[in-house]
Amino acid sequence: MQGGNTVQIKAIRGFSDILSPETTRWKSLEDRAREVLEGFGFSEIRIPILEQSELFSRGIGEGTDIVEKEMYTFTDRGGDLITMRPEATASVVRAYLEHKMYATDPVAKLYSIGPMFRHERPQKGRLRQFHQINAEVFGISQPAIDAEVMAIVMHYLAGVDAARCVLQINSLGCSRCRLPFKEKLRVFLKDHLPQLCEDCRRRMDQNPLRSFDCKVQGCREVMTKAPLISDDLCAECAEHFSAVRDYLELLEMSYEVNPMMVRGLDYYTKTTFEVIADGLGAQNTVAAGGRYDGLVTALGGPDIPGIGFAVGMERLLLIVPDEGLSSGPSLFIAALGKEPQREAFRISYTLNRAAVRTMTDYEGRGLKAQMRRADKSGARYVLILGEDEQRAGKAILRDMADGRQEEIPLPSICERLVGKIRGEIL
Ligand code: ATP
Ligand code: MG
Repeated sequence: MQGGNTVQIKAIRGFSDILSPETTRWKSLEDRAREVLEGFGFSEIRIPILEQSELFSRGIGEGTDIVEKEMYTFTDRGGDLITMRPEATASVVRAYLEHKMYATDPVAKLYSIGPMFRHERPQKGRLRQFHQINAEVFGISQPAIDAEVMAIVMHYLAGVDAARCVLQINSLGCSRCRLPFKEKLRVFLKDHLPQLCEDCRRRMDQNPLRSFDCKVQGCREVMTKAPLISDDLCAECAEHFSAVRDYLELLEMSYEVNPMMVRGLDYYTKTTFEVIADGLGAQNTVAAGGRYDGLVTALGGPDIPGIGFAVGMERLLLIVPDEGLSSGPSLFIAALGKEPQREAFRISYTLNRAAVRTMTDYEGRGLKAQMRRADKSGARYVLILGEDEQRAGKAILRDMADGRQEEIPLPSICERLVGKIRGEIL
């Protein structure tokens, strides 16, 4: 037999393990998102990781960064061209249509939480597998819902104590106002051709708006002088935008208008928004979203308006306070001797079943070693059970916070410990 290859296998670049106690922080952010969204009438949808590639090229748009450069696309063993979802909206729309949700209710509010995949350069706040909280509303074209959706995001962020978040809004107009605007922008870009990057030049004909989103310094400078879509909105879009602002004010939401904001996805119409956080450096957009009234038809469905958003979990975690959460046990049982160990095993199982996190030593180590482990585990209480104690029908409970000890009678020990520890924690 050949010798095994013992080179250690590492995770792929841009794909992270999320370890405890970090997982506790994730869970509390996710739980809070569910609470807030369900409170506003959203229900959960779970969509697959893999979709036909065409869903994204049609749903996100051919000329976008995501579709051009970032998708994990491959041919599977059956010869189908498939993609690991880079965002959720296209999949949610596909599911919405596939299950004809519009036939049962004119309005659908759906949310999902899960991983997305984009082949980008990994850096702070940018991974290749990252996670989003995503929410979509179908069937409401009125501006009130635009404001409500933004308010929900801000309410959620405030509820998890996210630091200094600013809501920025813009309107991208509809196809009617965007078509002539694109032409105007093309003319402007042609005048500044030498200062533009490769990508901007190439995309100028197909989608000149992309240049507003370009991160290259030269392009950014050019774009500060570019014509703005907000000056060229058609009457309907202008009215919609002003109503959105009015509703935001009604909800006492502060916001900034950022006329340079376009989104990375092609399908946005009218309202778009981003939530920018202080202290995130270059990757400072924590959440983003907008209206996509043309997407449902673009994916083969009836003419149904939509609006949604996505919160980036990794970026959110960078701006919410670290509460120093511990995933350690509440109780450590140090048992000495064969019989006490059996008893410790039984008590530990019973307490864990009652959701009192309990740890014990399975290896029969000495008392010193067990106390060291107990200390390291961060457990508030240690139960000491030796052969003498067992014969006397009791165990000793030590409160590690103040070193106080008390005797607990063995016959009702589980009930007593649950009561004591729960009572202390609550
Ligand atoms: P950016 O301009 O930062 O690339 P984007 O426009 O590509 O963002 P969206 O597609 O709108 O981002 O995704 C919504 C949110 O998901 C972002 O605001 C961000 O918080 C998060 N996000 C997007 N891409 C990544 C990534 N590669 N790693 C971590 N989070 C991400
Ligand atoms: Mg991006």
